[in-house]
Amino acid sequence: MVPISIDSYVNKHCKSNPGEEPNKLKKRLKEAVNNKKNGASCFNCGQETWAIGSAIAYQGCFSCITGEADGSEDYEIDEVCWS
Ligand SMILES: [Zn+2]
Repeated sequence: MVPISIDSYVNKHCKSNPGEEPNKLKKRLKEAVNNKKNGASCFNCGQETWAIGSAIAYQGCFSCITGEADGSEDYEIDEVCWS
């Protein structure tokens, strides 16, 4: 996945989603990052979570949230991006 900082992602996401509140999104991202650091696993398959998707949608891995197998061109928060 492509590493991105929380701040950069919030800016990017809020540009394409003007209705989103940056502070709330940031808070959810921080929670999702902490959950992932604490070993949170996907609700469906038990793999490690995708922090960005877990902040926006629900706690799951990239494949279960997006339905796509390849997340190599999608973002993940840099501090939990190890794959
Ligand atoms: Zn999954």
